[in-house]
Amino acid sequence: MDFHDSPQETAFRAEVRDFLRRELPQRGGIDPYAGFGGADFYLQFMDKLAARGWVAPAWPKEYGGAGLSVVQQFIFNQEMATARAPRPSPIAVGFAGPTLIVHGTEDQKQKYLSEILSGRVHWCQGYSEPGAGSDLASLQTRAVHDGDDYVVNGQKIWTSLGHLAKWMILLARTDPDAPKHRGISYFVLDMKSPGVTVRPLVNMAGTHEFNEVFFEDVRVPRENLIGEENRGWYLAQTTLSFERSNIGSAVGQQQIVEDLIRVAKDPSTAGMRMDGINHAVRTELVDRYVETEVATMMSYRIVTMQARGLIPSQEASAAKLFSTELNQRIYRTAMKVLGPYGQVLGRSPAHALLKGQVAYMYLRSVANTIEGGTSEIQRNIVATRGLGLPRN
Ligand SMILES: Cc1cc2nc3c(=O)[nH]c(=O)nc-3n(C[C@H](O)[C@H](O)[C@H](O)COP(=O)(O)OP(=O)(O)OC[C@H]3O[C@@H](n4cnc5c(N)ncnc54)[C@H](O)[C@@H]3O)c2cc1C
Repeated sequence: MDFHDSPQETAFRAEVRDFLRRELPQRGGIDPYAGFGGADFYLQFMDKLAARGWVAPAWPKEYGGAGLSVVQQFIFNQEMATARAPRPSPIAVGFAGPTLIVHGTEDQKQKYLSEILSGRVHWCQGYSEPGAGSDLASLQTRAVHDGDDYVVNGQKIWTSLGHLAKWMILLARTDPDAPKHRGISYFVLDMKSPGVTVRPLVNMAGTHEFNEVFFEDVRVPRENLIGEENRGWYLAQTTLSFERSNIGSAVGQQQIVEDLIRVAKDPSTAGMRMDGINHAVRTELVDRYVETEVATMMSYRIVTMQARGLIPSQEASAAKLFSTELNQRIYRTAMKVLGPYGQVLGRSPAHALLKGQVAYMYLRSVANTIEGGTSEIQRNIVATRGLGLPRN
């Protein structure tokens, strides 16, 4: 198997690198506090991506994408991660848009996709509820026919980017008498609709990423139903497969491990006054290095499937499981390599290495194995769909 770029892919990689060198001359690290919205730099950079069709490079040309291959998209993602570039809205581009491409009507695609490709619009995902997380099909939010609309009542929780989003992909129960998986429908909901209330939740890393969202007699036009009524569960699975394929970033993981190796060789390169690492930490670093290579191979597998027009299912679950648990191991190792320096949280203190990314990610990575479905759920999926083991 040859993982090297073809001549065409080499040229594309050079084009992306050149663009990033020009447009991101000063960027040298992720700022976990910058958030997604608002900042002028972010919006200007999105405009530059949009001008090239690079907000979602692999989307079809007829909907405003650049029509690039999935492999080119992968190369693009690698270069963006290597340059630590700001990314377009992860939900809009990563899984709401791709689900609409598969399941939306022509009118729905025309309406939503070109707007997503501007890079300026956020979406959120209204799946989880206080009583429905892993057992998502138990969700209780109701959508009831009324004239040309559905009327929605209920509550969602852990809604990432709900405070910034223009649109939500919403799962709501349309038939309370059907078996639980068969009475759910999939909608696009305008977050500015009367009756929608968004309340912030702050995570343990101190950032406001997710929210509670309440619906009180919210009217959703019938044309916002995606797919068939009561078949939303199957669309929700498509979305989750795209989401799980996207959660772990093997390139980002390789970068942080490389940073740690550099610091372990010579702490003074990071301005640290401390002794080198001990034997146990050295061994851990080797393990993390090997594991990031494995994570990279797993992401190649996903890309290869997508390039063949397949939607990864248990493969996405296996990759999500491995890369999110790896993320936690990486930041535990990072804490040992950086010692007290690793614990400085916040962007301004002089000793916050990598803009406080290690302390932030040490805390934030706990959530990686919960969001998009917990590790236990991914193991269940791999066990049943992947290995054919019995449900217990
Ligand atoms: C950072 C973050 C962002 C999120 N963003 C969103 C979002 O944007 N939109 C959204 O809809 N949701 C979002 N979520 C919610 C997420 O999808 C749920 O938290 C997750 O699915 C788990 O559900 P739960 O929290 O209700 O836990 P529960 O389902 O109550 O699970 C509790 C524990 O029981 C275990 N468990 C449950 N069922 C089984 C089983 N069958 N077998 C083995 N173990 C089991 C779980 O693994 C877990 O350890 C987000 C979560 C986080 C942490």
